[in-house]
Amino acid sequence: MAEKSKTDKMKEELFYTPSNAFYTCTDREIGKAMKFCEGYIDFLNACRTEREVNAFVKESAVRKGYREFDRSAKYAAGDKVYFDIHGKALILTTFGKKPVSAGTKIVAAHIDSPRLDLKPNPLYEDEELGYLKTHYYGGIKKYQWPTVPLALHGVICKRDGTCVTVRVGDDAGDPKFVITDLLPHLDREDRSIRKAVAGEDLNILIGSRPFGKEKGDKLVKLNLMKILNEKYGIKESDFLTAELEAVPAYPAVDIGFDRSLIGSYGHDDRVCAYPAVMAEFDVKKPEYTTVTVITDKEETGSDGNTGLHSAYLKQYICDLAELEGVPGRDVLRASECLSADVNAGFDPTFSSAFEKNNSAFLNKGIVVTKYTGSGGKGGTNDANAEYVSKVAAIFDKSGTVWQTGELGKVDVGGGGTVAKYVANLGVNVVDVGVPVLSMHAPFEIVSKMDVYMAYKGFKAFDESK
Ligand code: MN
Ligand code: MN
Repeated sequence: MAEKSKTDKMKEELFYTPSNAFYTCTDREIGKAMKFCEGYIDFLNACRTEREVNAFVKESAVRKGYREFDRSAKYAAGDKVYFDIHGKALILTTFGKKPVSAGTKIVAAHIDSPRLDLKPNPLYEDEELGYLKTHYYGGIKKYQWPTVPLALHGVICKRDGTCVTVRVGDDAGDPKFVITDLLPHLDREDRSIRKAVAGEDLNILIGSRPFGKEKGDKLVKLNLMKILNEKYGIKESDFLTAELEAVPAYPAVDIGFDRSLIGSYGHDDRVCAYPAVMAEFDVKKPEYTTVTVITDKEETGSDGNTGLHSAYLKQYICDLAELEGVPGRDVLRASECLSADVNAGFDPTFSSAFEKNNSAFLNKGIVVTKYTGSGGKGGTNDANAEYVSKVAAIFDKSGTVWQTGELGKVDVGGGGTVAKYVANLGVNVVDVGVPVLSMHAPFEIVSKMDVYMAYKGFKAFDESK
């Protein structure tokens, strides 16, 4: 190989060039990344909604020795607790060697994903076909959802206080559901993609067979209601007090001949939640107490009592502070947080939406997003340089491959994360996450190396001194 010229050496030393993890990592480490993602794929297939992620993580935590948080207990370094927020958000903690008053290390990821929620009164029949009405949840391109096989997940809570769990469409032998689309022969009108499918067009087809042999009114609906009554013990009015979510009914799979990518529904943001939880599980006796948060409602703006705009995190930190008899605000001031959230991966097919020098690329590691927001950084937590450099140093030291990235071009992109809600408590926060292609589509793409780098980075942060 020819020797590098002086100018090439200078460029190498002075220029910033994000590196591809496949070049910088050893084969052993690449193997570890591939292995780690097998667990991630299983997790994606087991958990399709925020409730299911909550239950799955809670069960795994209990198996790993986590106990329910008790405000009157005494905890020592290495003790592990969980705190459940209405079955939709969860906090995991490993107590550190330093007192809580020295601050905590918070990693917060969201476990809700864009989807189609059933309306409170969803069931109807039209021309002897049975349907469910939906109201979409989070930011979606509506045209992407018709002709995708769908599953239904959620709970139906009855007025006698009992709740029935619904999970149909994902298990072997289950029927699936679908939203139909107009055939191209009858769809020649030139419409923008925003108008191609309207919100009220997202009606899920769930059946076509009438009840019995005698002709009559609403017999398809009657037959469907009879099946639901037998299966779940419900009447139509029980839909009024249900929470049912339609999600794509296909499993997470390897993408590409080289199997370097994963395609799945719901990477945003289980792709940050899973590594955050695995890092939390693997931490033994950290310097600082960890607070790993998997939260709900990010996709609708973090409002509601299971979202991070509510008081639940602040209250939990105050509870931790009370264990030591110190004010909660002192703990918040001393705490640091990674807002674990995805960013857009640069897509060569749609390159005009991106500014290349400040975009995240697949396989180049986790993205440190200094600020989000839109229209002159409106609505952002713009992390301060001192804190960003501290986090960058943690990643460098641990061999975590990372890069920077903005969400698209100036005045094109925009979006929010939970960062600002944690920052508003007085905590230092920066966004860190995995780059995603086709974000918010029913089938999103991530790189296995990036997923593993999220685990590595979060673990290094949890264990930082
Ligand atoms: Mn999102
Ligand atoms: Mn997200």
